[in-house]
Amino acid sequence: MDFKNLEVWFVTGAQLLYGGDAIIAVDAHSNAIVEALNKSGQLPIKVVYKGTVNSAPEISAAFNDANVDDKCVGVITWMHTFSPAKMWIAGLKNYKKPLLHLHTQYNKEIPWSEIDMDFMNLNQSAHGDREFGHIVSRMRKNRKVVVGHYEDDSVQGHIAVWMRVAAAWADAQGMRIIRFGDNMNNVAVTDGDKVEAELRFGYHVDYYPVGDLVAEQDKVSEADVDSLVAVYEKEYDLAPNAKKGGAQHQQVREAAREEIALRRFLEQKDAKAFTTNFDALHGLNQLPGLASQRLMADGYGFGAEGDWKTAALVRTMKVMAQGLNGGTSFLEDYTYHFKGKGSILQAHMLEICPTIAAHKPKLEVHPLGIGGKADPARLVFTSPAGTGVAATVVDMGNRFRMIVNKVDVIEPEAALPKLPVASALWVPQPNLEVGAAAWIYAGGTHHTSFSYVLTEEYMEDYAEIAGVEMVTIDNSTTISNFKKELRFNEMYYMLKGSLEY
Ligand code: MN
Repeated sequence: MDFKNLEVWFVTGAQLLYGGDAIIAVDAHSNAIVEALNKSGQLPIKVVYKGTVNSAPEISAAFNDANVDDKCVGVITWMHTFSPAKMWIAGLKNYKKPLLHLHTQYNKEIPWSEIDMDFMNLNQSAHGDREFGHIVSRMRKNRKVVVGHYEDDSVQGHIAVWMRVAAAWADAQGMRIIRFGDNMNNVAVTDGDKVEAELRFGYHVDYYPVGDLVAEQDKVSEADVDSLVAVYEKEYDLAPNAKKGGAQHQQVREAAREEIALRRFLEQKDAKAFTTNFDALHGLNQLPGLASQRLMADGYGFGAEGDWKTAALVRTMKVMAQGLNGGTSFLEDYTYHFKGKGSILQAHMLEICPTIAAHKPKLEVHPLGIGGKADPARLVFTSPAGTGVAATVVDMGNRFRMIVNKVDVIEPEAALPKLPVASALWVPQPNLEVGAAAWIYAGGTHHTSFSYVLTEEYMEDYAEIAGVEMVTIDNSTTISNFKKELRFNEMYYMLKGSLEY
């Protein structure tokens, strides 16, 4: 997704009470703020000043324009003077995109020796923004409130996070996710209500028989396979038996054929995410693991075993993280190390994104005991130490719940020479005992979308925009408080109902 084509609109609230000079000053200050934000170099999306609104019709017009403009992914509001908030009711009622309320003011400091009542009446966002905030709260509309001077790094940082999330939200509206095969039989946590997901998150999940992918695979030429294998040779260290002339080289070629077919299929269908199922591979040579790894690296969402919710989340988090320094991947809690704070080895059968590799991945071919297919190719690597977030969305029956765990990725104590898949080892905050227990109390999946570069703030902004429950597990979590939070939330969502979108 190209952020260059996107815009965030800046709308200033005021009223005509203060006369012509005030209006000119408000406009000049707004222009200066927008210019400073754009010049800061901190914001991934350009801010476009859409003028000062002084009446209900002007406010409604601004929001209606924002709703229908494809480039606009969200609106920032700021009340320079007092903007009586009943004027905002109609506009806010119809507004459908993300909203950020920037509680700032033009002057950074009070001009002690010069301040008079004219200055006070012009620069009064301290109370104008409270009036605006009241009506947004009264209307129960989710938004992000950012407080501080617009030139401050931290203020710009909070806006930048929200912008990335707003872009990911726009990306998810109408996003198509393709499932080859269904959800893995009998599995509960990766399944859910696809109608509710489309109403709530905006993405659409389609099913295709794997035979359609096989038909695409059969059209792939040997020359195309040659070219892609040459890319593999350049980007990865091939195991001796995977190299040309090696006993398993043909399996690498079959993996390339599957990747080309899968990529073409997703492009033809205009899909941004997909799922596979090791149980539904009729007509394919192997589980398309290498293909899934490489497609994830190119920004596609992926979920294994038909896990479409995780596929959507991986895609959404990849858009949020786009261009930032740090990878994002599908992962699965695999096995425990009960030592120290306790850690979890994260891996999957094959499908981990190489954007989280600590080194040049190795391309290897090994048998896969599940699925009854030929030996699949895969990229093998470990992941670097660092902090990140692991997130999942589960269907609680009456609502979706997002669960976010801050995790500390650590170096494995020793090499894992016999592990034939990519992996990451992490300590869930605050430690394994509390982190895993909280995750389980919340009903979290074994599958997650993990990112080194995103923080809880991104996930919170996303949950607010989507209007879904979010619970966070981090160093401040205690089990007794967390259990209470889950129970309070249960009551809140029962009272609120889920039938508002
Ligand atoms: Mn799995």
